[in-house]
Amino acid sequence: MRKSGAYITSVYMGYSRKYYRRKEYKRKEYKRNWLYRIGKRVAILSLAAAVGVMAADKIATGVGQLQSAMTGKQFITTSVSMTSLEELSGTRRLLSDIAAEEEEKELVYSDYLAGYVGKERQDTLIVLDPGHGGEDEGCAQSGVEEKTINLEIALAVQHKLEQLGYQVLLTRDVDQALTLEERVEFANKANADIYVSIHQNSSESSKVEGIEVWYNRQNKGDESERLSKLIQKYAVQDTGAVNREILEEENLYVIRECAMPACLVETGFLTNVKERGKLTTSEYQEQMAEGIVSGIDLFFHPKSMYLTFDDGPSEANTNTVLDILKERNIKATFFVVGENVKKYPEVAKRIVEEGHTIGIHCNWHDYDMLYESVDSYLADFEEALETVKEVTGVETKLFRFPGGSINTHNKNVYEKIAEEMTARGYIYFDWNASLEDAVKDAKQETLIQNAVSSTLGRKHVVMLAHDVVDETALCLDELLDQFPEYWMQPLTEDVTPVQF
Ligand SMILES: [Zn+2]
Ligand SMILES: [Zn+2]
Repeated sequence: MRKSGAYITSVYMGYSRKYYRRKEYKRKEYKRNWLYRIGKRVAILSLAAAVGVMAADKIATGVGQLQSAMTGKQFITTSVSMTSLEELSGTRRLLSDIAAEEEEKELVYSDYLAGYVGKERQDTLIVLDPGHGGEDEGCAQSGVEEKTINLEIALAVQHKLEQLGYQVLLTRDVDQALTLEERVEFANKANADIYVSIHQNSSESSKVEGIEVWYNRQNKGDESERLSKLIQKYAVQDTGAVNREILEEENLYVIRECAMPACLVETGFLTNVKERGKLTTSEYQEQMAEGIVSGIDLFFHPKSMYLTFDDGPSEANTNTVLDILKERNIKATFFVVGENVKKYPEVAKRIVEEGHTIGIHCNWHDYDMLYESVDSYLADFEEALETVKEVTGVETKLFRFPGGSINTHNKNVYEKIAEEMTARGYIYFDWNASLEDAVKDAKQETLIQNAVSSTLGRKHVVMLAHDVVDETALCLDELLDQFPEYWMQPLTEDVTPVQF
């Protein structure tokens, strides 16, 4: 899809004088800056990689993270090429600095987040159900009874939830027999927001160990699943226990008959000597409770993630991405390229029709042309804006700079461009996490790993992805499974932008 030289000349003729004006970098200023010196090293490495990519005549873009050997600190850098256009960029702000700033901000849940998300803790009622009780001791091994461990963990969970401000009720807080019907009736009458039953497991094999969470797809399927995933993830994280599985189970009475999202946690195997030993200690029970509480709290108060897709639309990949987002009822943001919108107008229309945010990336992804001057940038932007308006009817205010707001191609003009664009009422978004999906031969597992590790546990994540990349579309479903603690939202003019 590379443009011919003749086409470039004809389209950009009007700006040729400005383009070929000699570039005056403020070299002294940059040289004094140690960040720049490191950035230069990155740029050289990236350039080498770009040359390698182009030599192989492959189409790819690179977004790389670099662990600097000099400082041990982490930077976001972009590198290499998309459709043979280099995406080299300079050193970003330290990720840890951005993370620290973001932790200061309060999470705000938009109005459309219905249901359980964002519900005030003091208005939220959680019913905990310690399994078994009285004559029904549950599974028992070497004098350790399930009913006792269940109650001890449930009481620890209750205490921690109450400390966070939640309302909590237990189906039993003593050693008492209850029928399954009584447990469900208790939760339903109390009009609980969620129901969590706590149990211990057993197996014929003494080797089996770890945590399982069960839920019923027929009962508030999506929400019960999200709750289960969160409890599983954080209980495993806080205890170091084996991550067994999340099970869809149709026949368990309590999780089927409750009128609210529900799950049943099997916190460990009493038939495993080592695990049984741990489960009887208050220290391990506290860790387990901590994990369950983190899961519950994130169910009501998830972190926010803005999925962003650059460089599209494309025919096949963007449609695959849209299919997956539709299936999961997730809204995202697409920073589109004007030329691609012209090529695939139906896909661009679909982005808008399905409720996603459309933003401008550029009309034509060529760094040298774009960043030659403020005027060249504005001309390209206006063209893309016009195309998007014509095709989709949307007059967007959101945009993303190709290569990010600061990169090696625009460092002498970026301030002026950003100033002018802001004065015109446009808002630009960089990113603070990335799949790094623009490198050549990216593997799906690597993209997923990159995305997960680059979030750094932040409360607000703007995730960079490219919907034109095959592997990104192919791994998206699995990728989204990794983030039960994040609520995916589209960018709007009201979102505080992440900017380098
Ligand atoms: Zn049980
Ligand atoms: Zn791009």
